[in-house]
Amino acid sequence: MGIPKAQLAHIGGSGTWASVFPEDCHMEGVKVVEKGLEFETPYGTTVPMKLLELDGSVCLDGKTKRVLTVPFHGWHSPDMADGGPEQIFWVFEQAGVRQIVVEGSGGGINHLLDVGDVVIPEDFMDFKKTSTSEFVRGRLIRMRDPLCPTLSQTLHSALQGEGYGRVFRRAVYAVTEGPRFESAAEIRGMKSWGADIVGLTLSPEVYLARAIGACIAGVYIVSNHAEGQVGEWEGGSIYDVYRDCAPKIGRAVLRTLMETDSVKTCACDSYRTEIPKVITRLWDNETEDKKGGN
Ligand SMILES: [Zn+2]
Repeated sequence: MGIPKAQLAHIGGSGTWASVFPEDCHMEGVKVVEKGLEFETPYGTTVPMKLLELDGSVCLDGKTKRVLTVPFHGWHSPDMADGGPEQIFWVFEQAGVRQIVVEGSGGGINHLLDVGDVVIPEDFMDFKKTSTSEFVRGRLIRMRDPLCPTLSQTLHSALQGEGYGRVFRRAVYAVTEGPRFESAAEIRGMKSWGADIVGLTLSPEVYLARAIGACIAGVYIVSNHAEGQVGEWEGGSIYDVYRDCAPKIGRAVLRTLMETDSVKTCACDSYRTEIPKVITRLWDNETEDKKGGN
């Protein structure tokens, strides 16, 4: 099967890890059209995706929508070093994806956060060393409002519909390299910079989304307190949080996708511009020289 057209995408993470998405959500109007879709990309073969159809009768604008859904951020293994994000975003661009909802979990840095709280970041800081990508080459990618304010608002409403009383907006998500967790000293540093939650996945997703002209919003369950903050936590307890949140986060994601409007009212697209050819040709020539052995 070639890459299907889909205007929406869901990037699965630990928010739905403990369930089969979307089947375990048991929501009306959600049909799995295809499973096990693997696509060849310039960055390697993707993990198996699913193509979903949201019936017009359950969508706010009455129009049927198609969704590509990917498990575990597109990574092929837990070591998170295999180009998974570049693969899935390449497919999203070919599919014409315009809006993306991602979910996951993180450690609470802000003392006000409890385990089980929900955070919708409005900004991020990236401590990954691998966050440059050829993928964005040729494009000027600004990180103003990196998480779409409109899509985030829809997600916020959907989460309250699932009974989550403590859903925090305006959080700052610190992204670390992983797969290890952070030290207490590292967390103290991030806290002094203004981070509220720490996790491994929002980068590169947040800037790859902008690179392909898609809005992105994310929801993260607080699965533990970040190291050195608010007492001790048991390593295995995060899996209890994942088991509890999976169907609720999954339903909130689906409801958000159902309420998206194909006519964007946000400014996200204006923060991406193509770099003029007169500048990119310098790099193109360099590449040609290398190919020629000079
Ligand atoms: Zn937007």
